[in-house]
Amino acid sequence: MPIALMCPNLQCRALLRVPESARGKRVRCPECGSILIVPKPPSASSGESGRPATADSAKAD
Ligand SMILES: [Zn+2]
Repeated sequence: MPIALMCPNLQCRALLRVPESARGKRVRCPECGSILIVPKPPSASSGESGRPATADSAKAD
């Protein structure tokens, strides 16, 4: 499923579609040549080991 990005160039605002594999990488807008950085997902489920970011150990009796 490709990612839809809008070009940050306000004069361009082209809608770009980049593959999932482009996450974290830079792509160039074919319309104006601006460089966009494809954002990574907030919670990556692949690549890194499943480590709980927030432990629920604060709830102590
Ligand atoms: Zn552009």
